[in-house]
Amino acid sequence: MMEQTIAAVSTGHAASGIHIIRISGPEAIRIGDRVFAGRKPLGKVKSHTIHHGFIRFDGEDYDEVLVSVMKAPHTYTGEDTVEINCHGGLLVTNRVLELVLSQGARLAEPGEFTKRAFLNGKMDLTRAEAVADLIGAENRFAVKASLSQLKGTLERKVREMRTRILDEVAYIEAALDDPEHYDLDGYGETLSGHVREIHGEIRELLRTFDSGKILKEGIRTVIAGLPNAGKSSLLNLLSGSERAIVTPVAGTTRDVLEVPVRLGDISLLLMDTAGLRKTGDPVEQIGVDRAEKAIREADLVLYVTDSEKGFLPEDREILKTLDPRKVIVLSNKTDLLADHSPAGSGEPIPEAYEVLPFSALTGEGLETLEDAVLKRFLSAEIIENEQVFVTNLREKMCLQEAEESLVLVEEGILCAVGEEVLTIDLMNAYTALGKIIGESVGEDVIDRIFEKFCMGK
Ligand code: GDP
Repeated sequence: MMEQTIAAVSTGHAASGIHIIRISGPEAIRIGDRVFAGRKPLGKVKSHTIHHGFIRFDGEDYDEVLVSVMKAPHTYTGEDTVEINCHGGLLVTNRVLELVLSQGARLAEPGEFTKRAFLNGKMDLTRAEAVADLIGAENRFAVKASLSQLKGTLERKVREMRTRILDEVAYIEAALDDPEHYDLDGYGETLSGHVREIHGEIRELLRTFDSGKILKEGIRTVIAGLPNAGKSSLLNLLSGSERAIVTPVAGTTRDVLEVPVRLGDISLLLMDTAGLRKTGDPVEQIGVDRAEKAIREADLVLYVTDSEKGFLPEDREILKTLDPRKVIVLSNKTDLLADHSPAGSGEPIPEAYEVLPFSALTGEGLETLEDAVLKRFLSAEIIENEQVFVTNLREKMCLQEAEESLVLVEEGILCAVGEEVLTIDLMNAYTALGKIIGESVGEDVIDRIFEKFCMGK
């Protein structure tokens, strides 16, 4: 299977100034030569060079192109690779691709170039997954996390922990084979110390998953508040569109809308909810129930109050049910206040809540809100450091599996079980960590990972 040469347009399907067709496999250069007319045949040029010429077949010119030739093994896939830079539009590019396919290449499956890179040992699974994450990254922090993983931070960490585990297994086995030279007396304590250290590091990695996930997918945010406070207006302001129907009639927003928006450098997944008013209308009650559920699941609640009306007893009742650590109160409609004072004429807002003056109409307070959210969700540690992140559920599950095996080792030492038994659990932890980087994972798992990639990658 691997001997087949594959080809695809690697630059997407939108109209664009340049399109690149990538060809990879043992026949890449020969196929390139069948369709390319330049000063020299591609088979005769040096690796990692680029050549001007025409895609020409049966006397017909298809496009004027630049062709890069990269010979194995120093290529993305690890195979001979030819990239044709077409400067015609997508129609011309697709004709060139068809020509390439007619000359012996097969259309690549989504992610197949990267899959080959993995199978040819050019990158481990964490890096391959980072490639997909980088393509899908929707904010600067997600880019940072995937770039760091692409550079191999997680891979190195995992390999290093595996080596330490293997060292212990090797010592035990040596001691069992050759008790005269290797002593297992008191070794349980040493082993216990080492295992505790590795376990701690795994726990630390698992801890990064929640912030990693928030970085990648966006902060699940609920907009809440009494009817007419300005929730839909806030949603529109943040999403830059007229998605929710803004209307001066109380209780018109009945459903939960979920809109991904960017707030500066991070992403929010905004859920606009029905007003949290108790109501006799059953349809509206469904909206209220959903709002309460969304609030329970949210990472952040933007609670909107009408600063002209002031902070009302109903606001206090609702806020009482919310965890202050999750809430930012937006004292909305400050544009209507002469003195721009946040609390208007009502009662004071309880101190536990962070309150920001805001106007969904003018956008006043938006930058302050950005700063407040950033501060709350991204520790300086995450913003400043090259921290290893786990953002991927598969990787998280492998870490948990390794953790479970290490717990068994720790328990085994306490119960003074035989060293042979300890090596079994140590090896299980070793294997579980190996799956993170792609060792001993089944073909089905690999297929599932790469089919999520886009075409041409
Ligand atoms: P919701 O029921 O909480 O979703 O409130 P809406 O977003 O539908 O807003 C209710 C009314 O208040 C509408 O007439 C909005 O135009 C108005 N409104 C919302 N935000 C502001 C604001 O910041 N300033 C002013 N002056 N009016 C606003």
